[in-house]
Amino acid sequence: MSVFEHPEFDHHEGVHYFEEPDAGLKAIIAVHSTALGPAAGGCRLWQYDRSDDAVTDVLRLSRGMTYKNAVAGLPFGGGKAVILKTPALAANPELFRAFGRAVDALGGRYVTAEDVGVSVDNMRNVRESTRHVSGLPQSGASAGGDPSPWTALGVFLGIQAAVAVHLNRDSLDGLRVAIQGVGHVGLHLGRLLSEAGAELTIADVNRKNLEAAQAAFPANVVAAQDILFADADVLAPCALGNVLNSVSIPKIKAKVIAGAANNQLSTEADGDRLAERNILYAPDYVINAGGIISVAREYFEKGSEDEVRSDVGRIPVRLEEIFAESAASHKATNRVADELARRLVTAAGTD
Ligand code: NAD
Repeated sequence: MSVFEHPEFDHHEGVHYFEEPDAGLKAIIAVHSTALGPAAGGCRLWQYDRSDDAVTDVLRLSRGMTYKNAVAGLPFGGGKAVILKTPALAANPELFRAFGRAVDALGGRYVTAEDVGVSVDNMRNVRESTRHVSGLPQSGASAGGDPSPWTALGVFLGIQAAVAVHLNRDSLDGLRVAIQGVGHVGLHLGRLLSEAGAELTIADVNRKNLEAAQAAFPANVVAAQDILFADADVLAPCALGNVLNSVSIPKIKAKVIAGAANNQLSTEADGDRLAERNILYAPDYVINAGGIISVAREYFEKGSEDEVRSDVGRIPVRLEEIFAESAASHKATNRVADELARRLVTAAGTD
């Protein structure tokens, strides 16, 4: 099947395949849209069962970045990269230098940063080959560095907004939150929620990450297969995508879903399923924009950590607008957010 017939192909401006056998690099970079600026989005290092799954992932994730950057008001289009992991492939410096050469070959149409499986250190190696990279360590109070604490802050503020609207609660004290995945974002989110008095249930398939979280805050641990269905007020998916689908949704007990993972819904119709069950869904790319907000200020060398904090503080305002429009129009929140994002991108294209 050619990429043009792929069900997730959405008029992407470019889908680029790169291979450097000596470095072990096999990567795909998808540029979905540059209407609002260079296509920005993280690089994921992941082991896919089939290379077709990597294509599906990068096509969906890059479109999601276009929507995320548009709704966050950033001067970025949408793109994403995946590096295909094999059991023998370690995240070594030469792999990321080679990936940097791939990014550089696109001449600035794509800007990369960290995503799942990729660290700040890896981005340092990317920087050796290209300047079109963000999420690097910064000095002093300038914006930059690991985006995940900012993503976690945005999710935390989004949870506050969602429970105020849907559960009529103005405090997180005693709120029961289930976090799926306590990696970079989930760990920071757990800390913030715990400090605010929330009662946490967590799960992770990685024992080290689970232990780090247990050392960081009190939490009830459940098996990975049970976390989506935990007795909780809020479910915060912070692992991988496609967790909200026709099989899982009927069994979810939480009344609010608000987490960091990209592409939480398997299909658009899954947003309708949540709405039918009166579960308030905070659209993933709206609530998880904190990291890319930091990345944007770093990349354009504009601003300080304080300004990033202030920008991230606007995430709950955008969510409240989406929740209000959803309530007024009886459309699911994901559909309201997608329509808003498409309007913004189309308007930029006709300027
Ligand atoms: P991460 O890899 O650091 O953490 C993900 C965690 O989820 C890991 O600990 C992993 O073991 C765990 N996990 C995987 N499958 C699981 C399962 N079935 N059940 C329970 N745990 C499972 O990644 P991250 O940077 O924390 O990102 C988490 C999610 O948020 C991803 O979907 C990512 O795309 C999204 N996101 C991250 C950022 C960011 O700033 N890091 C920004 C926006 C969106």
